[in-house]
Amino acid sequence: MAAQLLPGLERKLKAEITGDVMFDRFSRGRYATDASHYQMTPLGVVAPRTVEEAERTLALAREEGVTVLPRGGGTSQSGQTVNQSLVIDCSKYLTKIYEIDVGEKRCTVEPGIVLDDLNRALKPYGLWFPVDVSTASRATIGGMAANNSCGGRSLRYGTMRDNVRSIDAVLADGARAHFGPVHAGLSNLPAGSPLRPLARTLLDIGLREADAIERRFPKVQRRVGGYNLDAFAPNAPEHNLAHILLGSEGTLAFSTRIELKLSPVLGKRVMGACHFGSFYEAMNSAQHLVRLKPIAVELVDRTMLELASEIAMFRPTLKAFVHGEPEAILLVEFDEGEVENQRRLKELAATMGDLGFGFDKHGAKWGGVVEVTDAALQAAIADVRTSGLNIMMSMKQEGKPISFVEDCAVPLVNLADYTQRLTAVFEKHGTRGTWYAHASVGCLHVRPVLNLRQEKDVKAMRAIAEEAFAMVRDYKGSHSGEHGDGIVRSEFHEFMFGKELVKAFEEVKDTFDPKGVFNPGKIVRAPKFDDRGNFRYPPGYAGQEMKTQLDWSAWPGAGGGFQGAVEMCNNNGACRKIEGGVMCPSYRVTREERDVTRGRANSLRLAITGQLGPDALTSDEMAETLKLCVSCKACRRECPTGVDMARMKIEVQAARAAKRGLSLRDRLVGYLPRYAPHAAKFPALANARDRYPWLRSLSEYLAGLSGRRTLPQWRADVFDDTLASLPHLPGHVGEGANDNEPREVVLLADTFNRYFERENLDAAATVLHAAGYKVHVAKPVDGAKRPLCCGRTFLSVGRVDEARREAERVIAAVEPFVKRGVPVIGLEPSCILGFRDEVPALIKSEGATLLSMHALMFEEFLVREAAAGRLNLPLKPLAKRALVHGHCHQKSFGMMGAVERILKLVPNLKVETVDSSCCGMAGAFGYGADTIDVSLAMGELSLLPAVRKADADTLIVADGTSCRHQIHDGAQREALHVARVLAMSLEGGKRAANSSSPLPLAGEGARA
Ligand SMILES: Cc1cc2nc3c(=O)[nH]c(=O)nc-3n(C[C@H](O)[C@H](O)[C@H](O)COP(=O)(O)OP(=O)(O)OC[C@H]3O[C@@H](n4cnc5c(N)ncnc54)[C@H](O)[C@@H]3O)c2cc1C
Ligand code: SF4
Ligand code: SF4
Repeated sequence: MAAQLLPGLERKLKAEITGDVMFDRFSRGRYATDASHYQMTPLGVVAPRTVEEAERTLALAREEGVTVLPRGGGTSQSGQTVNQSLVIDCSKYLTKIYEIDVGEKRCTVEPGIVLDDLNRALKPYGLWFPVDVSTASRATIGGMAANNSCGGRSLRYGTMRDNVRSIDAVLADGARAHFGPVHAGLSNLPAGSPLRPLARTLLDIGLREADAIERRFPKVQRRVGGYNLDAFAPNAPEHNLAHILLGSEGTLAFSTRIELKLSPVLGKRVMGACHFGSFYEAMNSAQHLVRLKPIAVELVDRTMLELASEIAMFRPTLKAFVHGEPEAILLVEFDEGEVENQRRLKELAATMGDLGFGFDKHGAKWGGVVEVTDAALQAAIADVRTSGLNIMMSMKQEGKPISFVEDCAVPLVNLADYTQRLTAVFEKHGTRGTWYAHASVGCLHVRPVLNLRQEKDVKAMRAIAEEAFAMVRDYKGSHSGEHGDGIVRSEFHEFMFGKELVKAFEEVKDTFDPKGVFNPGKIVRAPKFDDRGNFRYPPGYAGQEMKTQLDWSAWPGAGGGFQGAVEMCNNNGACRKIEGGVMCPSYRVTREERDVTRGRANSLRLAITGQLGPDALTSDEMAETLKLCVSCKACRRECPTGVDMARMKIEVQAARAAKRGLSLRDRLVGYLPRYAPHAAKFPALANARDRYPWLRSLSEYLAGLSGRRTLPQWRADVFDDTLASLPHLPGHVGEGANDNEPREVVLLADTFNRYFERENLDAAATVLHAAGYKVHVAKPVDGAKRPLCCGRTFLSVGRVDEARREAERVIAAVEPFVKRGVPVIGLEPSCILGFRDEVPALIKSEGATLLSMHALMFEEFLVREAAAGRLNLPLKPLAKRALVHGHCHQKSFGMMGAVERILKLVPNLKVETVDSSCCGMAGAFGYGADTIDVSLAMGELSLLPAVRKADADTLIVADGTSCRHQIHDGAQREALHVARVLAMSLEGGKRAANSSSPLPLAGEGARA
């Protein structure tokens, strides 16, 4: 990593800026990539708190002769958001909405606000900002403006250029300027305005180059390449100076305030999913379908459908709208009001019929329209469509789909020919690509699969680019139709626009930024797009060999595939979303790039490839990088490419523990299952820490356990595997079954429920027993006195060897059962789901595999039995409402449906699930003196306010022991495990009491 230290600049910035100033190698590494295949390490990073601080940063950079790179979400695909400059990150603090003018349908915002956040704020006014980029959850308005971004509905709403009214910006010399409409003769610009000379130059160039602009600027709507000189040609409809900044990629000025045009929110829409039996026919039909004036026509091709069908969460959606086996589907969307929508749908069906398509026809003209009027299904289909790129990127091999001809746009009449010819070019170069996205505007996305670590594939990339752009030029299309120029397209401007216009682009740059301060090397004077020195994987890039603990063999690269798994992050930034789903909960509080999966993956990649110096993997900086990762496993499910940071963190913790040993806190957490039997013998003593403030302070001082948190309370009546104290309930083994065979289950008591909340285990056994199951309790078979434990606490501190030992004990105990197909049921998500996730990656044995197949959460098992018609529980009404919070691992494994379904068996119970991310407790995370503030803030994001709002009669339900603790601490409410809710319902509302129902133990069963 280039290490040009700038102590003077860093010192001055730290003295003058209250925002974040980061010059360390880890931080710089995290800002060295965007969603392109390039990597350029910045000199440093500043996240200014205010626009004034941003201005001060620019001034200090100017004084030091340093170039600057403004940055939003860093989701650009063309390399425009990487440079060896001082990065100014607008996304953390510059997120203000200055004003919303509902009457005028306009608003003004700071550049760092994320599109989804803005639209959430606008929704109550019935307005939205309609440039609906796929990256809406993390793309900032500043980044969108500088890229002249466009969304799926650009057919109706156009690009940013059509939706920005004005921009306030800081110029290269520090002057502030307001870029807005100007009158002919610049009469509305005051005499001393710094914009006067710039505007004059732009208008002069526009006049001088009018002919070249007319000839060489593509006429397609999707043209974002070069500077928008056409806005200053004499025939332009208006002269708005802001247009020069739109698409200028941070090369001309730093935007500080952006005025936007707003639109009324979309109404109830309808969608026609037009099926085609041939891809060519689909492309050829797009020109006819747009005549019906839809708001979008989006393509999903066969490969995409197949890839999506391999992803569990997309399968139900595909089932709902895909008919037969189409080669391509065009999703045609209308938003014209109820009656007109229906008429347009009919017209669409008629047009498809006129074009010769029918589902009953076989051969080339097979096809037709599937109508989608349900809003939820439309959203789910849109999700499949917008996840298109990421679905493709989820391939694990070294070769990946590469973005460089990704967004060429051609006139619709040429679309079929263009796609056919480009597919042939791919084939000629031994690769392939999947087509998707904006058929309506002739801007289809396609990424050929290439391995940019290999010279031959880099050569293929150039050859494909040259052939593709030549075709696009012949069609009078645009080689840069959506994602901007960056490094990828700028080199080709001369070929596309001609020498004369490129000179004019340079003149614009030099007029605005004579010293080349702003994002140099983009749009003009760019490096070669295939200069491997600028690649994320440059020549000589290699992973360092390391001994890993888990199985990473599904991926390529060093560390048994660990490298390949880390490299799965393509920097698309989906982990930066702050609403919906779970990922990445700590980022939602801190808003630091360090605290998203992307930041962590980038740090890991740089570390294991030796770019962060020796021993970076076990360094304090790496520990800091992963400190706020709560191992929620949300990334495993929600990251479009499946980056599983929770699992990677185990490797890092293991490497660090091996090298540096464990801290006292880690020992206390990790070894809990070992000392718990002893602590439980003296509960009063073990609980003393919470009673005496001085002991709390001491534990904080010595072990880093926050004195502000109570610890779980030890008790004498721990669960002892005997079930001897359970109530004798109606029902007996086998009752409720359709046959006379008793059905068996194994109950696995986890450490937390065993020692701290045994009533959950009692309740589960009671319910299972009442449902007619023979309940065995898993018991050690190795002769050791200590009870079984899944090993989770050891995993969390990096003692993988101990975790493996514990897991092996469980496997030995339950193996005779799982061999017979008997389910192993647990209550704690992080425990039971570990047997399906980490344990198979840790232990290669038949027992581990069988356990992974038969380990079930309590509710999951019951839902399965209910679906098979085997569940007969005499449940009675209990309460009117249950508010459920899902444990992160339940969400990660898509298990919340099971929780809801099983609770709905309770008569009259209305079940609502809080739309919450992680509760914030996350095992030991919430106890740390250094993490408690973030932990509490995470709880406050949505869970705790929702619980506080619930009335006293509402049942609060949470299956995770940590979640219950957080709810107790943060909202002073008792949360119940779902097993307890069912047990209470069985008893007509009473809490499950003790009884004596002697049931066999797993260990005994195994021996029998
Ligand atoms: C999966 C995926 C899907 C995408 N889909 C779309 C899509 O549908 N439509 C689309 O148009 N794009 C799309 N993109 C590209 C990208 O997401 C958009 O261009 C987005 O608008 C970039 O926003 P950002 O905040 O990430 O900008 P960044 O990448 O952070 O920055 C973009 C440019 O803006 C400049 N910039 C940022 N802030 C300022 C400022 N204050 N002043 C001056 N310059 C500034 C930067 O220097 C850079 O040149 C997609 C990308 C990915 C990875
Ligand atoms: S971690 Fe996943 S979601 Fe985040 S940027 Fe990387 S690939 Fe995207
Ligand atoms: S495990 Fe959770 S906190 Fe950690 S990176 Fe993944 S989503 Fe973020």
